Amino acid sequence: MTAELISFKMEKKKRAKNLGLCQHGFHKWEVDQKKQFDPKEGKLVTVYKCSKCPAKKVKAI
Ligand SMILES: [Zn+2]
Repeated sequence: MTAELISFKMEKKKRAKNLGLCQHGFHKWEVDQKKQFDPKEGKLVTVYKCSKCPAKKVKAI
């Protein structure tokens, strides 16, 4: 029983590390900051973040 519980926990941890589609570049993008001014680009951008991992991307408007 105890051993099963531990292996289950490890499995869950492993799955959390394994980001599934994220590791193949298919992130679940969500808008983080809409119409943010990016001084580097010199224009408004929308910042997207993945809801499953810390990935971020910036899209110029
Ligand atoms: Zn992701």
